[in-house]
Amino acid sequence: MIAYPNCPLCASGTAIHQSNTRLAEITFMALGGGREIGANSFYYGVDGHGILIDAGLHPEKTGWAAFPSIESLAGNPVDHFLITHAHTDHLGAVPFVRQSFPDVPIYATSETIALAKIMLSNSASLLPKQHTQDVIDALPNYTILALPETLDKMQPLELGTSKELEGTGVKVTYYPSGHILGAAGVLIEHDGVKIFHTGDTSLHPQRLIGGAQLPEGPIDVLVSESTNGVVDAYLTHSRERELERLVGTINDTLAAEGSVLIPVFALGKLQEMLSMIGDAMRDGKIPKVPIYTGGMGRKISEVYDQFLTSRSRTNDVDKTSDIEQSELPRRDGLFDAKYFKEPSIVLAASGMMQDGTASYLLAQRWLRHAHFAICFVGYTDPRTPGYTVSHAEPNTRIRFGSMKRDVPVRCKIERFRFSAHARREELLEIVRRLQPKHVVLTHGDEKAIAAFGELILATFPEMIVSAPEVGKWYRLN
Ligand SMILES: [Zn+2]
Repeated sequence: MIAYPNCPLCASGTAIHQSNTRLAEITFMALGGGREIGANSFYYGVDGHGILIDAGLHPEKTGWAAFPSIESLAGNPVDHFLITHAHTDHLGAVPFVRQSFPDVPIYATSETIALAKIMLSNSASLLPKQHTQDVIDALPNYTILALPETLDKMQPLELGTSKELEGTGVKVTYYPSGHILGAAGVLIEHDGVKIFHTGDTSLHPQRLIGGAQLPEGPIDVLVSESTNGVVDAYLTHSRERELERLVGTINDTLAAEGSVLIPVFALGKLQEMLSMIGDAMRDGKIPKVPIYTGGMGRKISEVYDQFLTSRSRTNDVDKTSDIEQSELPRRDGLFDAKYFKEPSIVLAASGMMQDGTASYLLAQRWLRHAHFAICFVGYTDPRTPGYTVSHAEPNTRIRFGSMKRDVPVRCKIERFRFSAHARREELLEIVRRLQPKHVVLTHGDEKAIAAFGELILATFPEMIVSAPEVGKWYRLN
């Protein structure tokens, strides 16, 4: 339990904040994503009406623990359902929520709806590998026949536009939140009360995706993500410096006739890395060698190319399809491909080398080659093979995932940070600009939330900071 000196929740030991003079009661519950980065899902109760934001799948847990705690709502209504963006930890449980609330309208940006078609069918195809049969049997909305019903329920709510949520007296506005294509932060307004829900956000622009835009402050409540709430200094390097370092490692490896493996998330990180490497090749900073991409990532790149003028994008309107790419073979062909014979760059999912994915399988071979390199470009959870490999010492032997034998660590292994999330200083900047009375911290591990909470209170002692637990009610105003 984290205690914040100014938080009445912590001081009173109750999950309900003290009421002030406002009449409209706004309550809040994290159904997932409270003190963790998990099955993100957040409920706002406004004068007897319910608004749900996101429903994600927990990337590491199995069984019902991987789903939002919808049972905690215990009879409270869900009248409107908003999706901030298409990452699985925010979207993957939407069909599950619809089993309890089949007729609730779902709002998302056109970009998110287009991405959801790919992401939800991927989630559905992975479920049987991650869960026992009794769980699968209880998930009828994830079948190939049922998935389109969920997609049909999704209605576009575009970045920069507002909507009155019927029957609730609530107005919501979608702000570009940076992060990935189509991602939104949500301003919720009711009876003079303003709440801003950041979603996953980044103030700094990336290569393809622009920085977040914010509503005007002051507001009453900020519900903020906290991913980078505590981050080692070496991870806060600028994107330009990290790119320079990456280009250096790629050049050294290619000059030694080796190949570079870059594990990436198929949504967001692949498109960003592909574009940056494409730029470097075009500008002569790295030699022209084959770039391998494949699978779901390529389909997602097509959606990025469909939305060149999206409000979430930077002004660079380059298509990823303009960058020459070789097809990464499917599982059986992975070990016969040319990247083992000629210098190449391989962008392979998953970013954390989850068991059975292309990057996981390739790493086992890559590690044996002293002139090869593996470049990690994002966060790896300590429970994943990606963490084991990215932290491996040279000239040792390691084993990860379901491997039966150790493998020698001979290749070069480097870590880079190209975060699609706000840095610690940016998170504080959001608080500074919005001047909320109350900050609710979500979407971060306990350390990140504690460190960011303390930073906020040290900078703005008059603010209330709370860190909700999953399944508990909080009063926001
Ligand atoms: Zn995300």
